[in-house]
Amino acid sequence: MAANKKLLILAGDGIGPEVMREVGRLIDWFARRRAVGFDVSQGLVGGCAYDKEGVPLTDATMAAAMAADAVLLGAVGGPKWDNLPFEKKPERGLLRLRKDMELFANLRPAIVFGPLADASTLKRELVEGLDMLIVRELTGGVYFGSPRGIETLPDGTRRGINTQVYTTPEIDRVARVAFDLARLRGKRVCSVEKANVMESGLLWREEVQKLRDASYSDIDLSHMYADNCAMQLVRQPKQFDVIVTDNLFGDLLSDCAAMLTGSLGMLPSASLGAADATGRRRALYEPVHGSAPDIAGKDLANPLATILSFAMMLRYSFDLGEDATLVEKAVAAALDRGYRTGDIMTPGATRVSTTGMGDAVLKELDRLAA
Ligand code: NAD
Repeated sequence: MAANKKLLILAGDGIGPEVMREVGRLIDWFARRRAVGFDVSQGLVGGCAYDKEGVPLTDATMAAAMAADAVLLGAVGGPKWDNLPFEKKPERGLLRLRKDMELFANLRPAIVFGPLADASTLKRELVEGLDMLIVRELTGGVYFGSPRGIETLPDGTRRGINTQVYTTPEIDRVARVAFDLARLRGKRVCSVEKANVMESGLLWREEVQKLRDASYSDIDLSHMYADNCAMQLVRQPKQFDVIVTDNLFGDLLSDCAAMLTGSLGMLPSASLGAADATGRRRALYEPVHGSAPDIAGKDLANPLATILSFAMMLRYSFDLGEDATLVEKAVAAALDRGYRTGDIMTPGATRVSTTGMGDAVLKELDRLAA
């Protein structure tokens, strides 16, 4: 069996190692049953790295992440490390990974599994079967633009400044990611900005359209103002396939879309960097949730967000779409059979532990592969 897929696992803190253990069992299953092998290595990130190595991410672990085909991360942080100096905080490890790997495209799917549709704050018919993807630009825009700062004016009042700025290459590369991903899905992209009031938004709109006309004529592209998009997400979310937007609007809209699904323990994510000459993209896959210190070490955490992040990795880093679909179908089937961790528990369902949910998914994988 070829095992040339280099995967670095950074389980991190809190519930990170618990949810990652279930992914480990899936990796074993794929090696056994589907002849899909990974060259897996493990490393430390966050508070556990600080405890053992004095920093939240060592240069050696950073180098391993750069050399890996994909990095799978659990979660970092916890009260034990809250009072460390800024540079030693667990989150700095994660931020360094994102920065040094130049992960400019953040992918946040919002998928509603039928049995969980009632967990949404919206009516079941509006969200049942929802399957959309938000592609957020992650390294540019107003969070990074200069000038920035707070200054005191001659009259003693103060002024806070941030600059929204985008260049054509920054827009082009994230739009390419969105178009490429749309080709693997419903072939529809909605580009979101505020071209009516912001020059950077106008540039965004023009460049996305130009790219579509030049290289992606098979994709159905629409444009929407960000305020309207926020409304449409809660009015009729199923109209969207792929949304591509900037850093600030993506921050807000992806959290809004996440809430359509109702549960933090179900949300996967991916962050992608530039493709190299061989087409390999740096990539980091992680659940949206944090280290959940309140339930850590108790076998209570929902491992599905991490399992679904693993499925995204199969699809986007290793072109194993069929295997990714298998994982997603197994998750859906386990939910259909009524298995629930505490965070998604509903009356009449069967409450299971982290390990129990892993068992349920593996059992469904066995059934699907039989
Ligand atoms: P959190 O996501 O860890 O937890 C919020 C709530 O959701 C908690 O009640 C928790 O028990 C619950 N929850 C989260 N994931 C769950 C899961 N898989 N199954 C069941 N319940 C789950 O957010 P927080 O409490 O604000 O932060 C806790 C720590 O995590 C902090 O140190 C924070 O800095 C860190 N954090 C890390 C990341 C990351 O690693 N990407 C993201 C967010 C927060």
